[in-house]
Amino acid sequence: MGGKEIMIHDSALGPHQEILTARATDKKILGKAQDGGIVTALLVYALEKNIIDGTIVAGDGKEAWKPEPIVATTKKEILKSSGTKYTMCPNLAMVKEATRRYGLEKMGIVGTPCQIMGVRKMQAYPMGLRHVTDKIALIAGIYCMENFPYDSLKAFIQDKANTTPEKVVKMDISKGKLFIRTSDDETAIPIKQTHGYEQSGCRYCMDYVAELSDVSCGSVGAKPGWSTVIKRTDVGCSLVDSAVEDGVLEVTETNTGKFGLEMLRKLATNKKKQRVKNVDKALDLGLEVPFTRSDLKEDILENR
Ligand code: SF4
Repeated sequence: MGGKEIMIHDSALGPHQEILTARATDKKILGKAQDGGIVTALLVYALEKNIIDGTIVAGDGKEAWKPEPIVATTKKEILKSSGTKYTMCPNLAMVKEATRRYGLEKMGIVGTPCQIMGVRKMQAYPMGLRHVTDKIALIAGIYCMENFPYDSLKAFIQDKANTTPEKVVKMDISKGKLFIRTSDDETAIPIKQTHGYEQSGCRYCMDYVAELSDVSCGSVGAKPGWSTVIKRTDVGCSLVDSAVEDGVLEVTETNTGKFGLEMLRKLATNKKKQRVKNVDKALDLGLEVPFTRSDLKEDILENR
């Protein structure tokens, strides 16, 4: 770790320079955030080090567990928005506003792999985004297998956990289950039972680990309470390395075996294979699918 590493081109996990297992050292962050609290810790650290002057995150919305994008410019605001929400939050809708209304000059963005792809497209083709995309300073991605429209999420909470979103204190996906916790109860719903409820675009999404981010992370491959962190660009590597050096993140040995990186790689590969099949089926039915067009079918099939 440290210094410039060689970029590894990995067909399952995307381009990266190093993978490590880490968690935040701040107990407040660990208590509130998901898994190892990496995204929260990195955003707070980046803010304190003036690498960013604010960040777009999924903040609290008007309804419980229905997030709305906000621009967080203080540690308190970042901490308040931490934790995964398991429903869509249109973070990219805030990109322009973050520079125009909030005056950010060094913007952080957190997002799912599809949102990160959107950010990279904005940067590549900044139409209508003059003096906006050049202010993006950090792009942090979170692993995502699928995501749920708010009504679906509400339905699981009501039907399977027999409670209401207002009473839920934490949700978590681990070991193939969606855990819904209230202050005095916990319900585990097998992820298989949630299939069919995901938003339709997820059926065609091939990126599990936010391959286009500066740094991405999630719980898969790490022991409980820790996260697998994929350092990708020089921006992401330098941020993570400095955070480790300054004691903001602590690192433990990475499990490269069956329940570690092997599992992460397997999930990422299976997602791609499954979704290519879904694209294939949809194209055979003459349907248009997101991210591709009928004339790209051969390329997709050739490269799978
Ligand atoms: S599965 Fe893909 S399309 Fe669905 S929310 Fe996750 S990253 Fe976005």
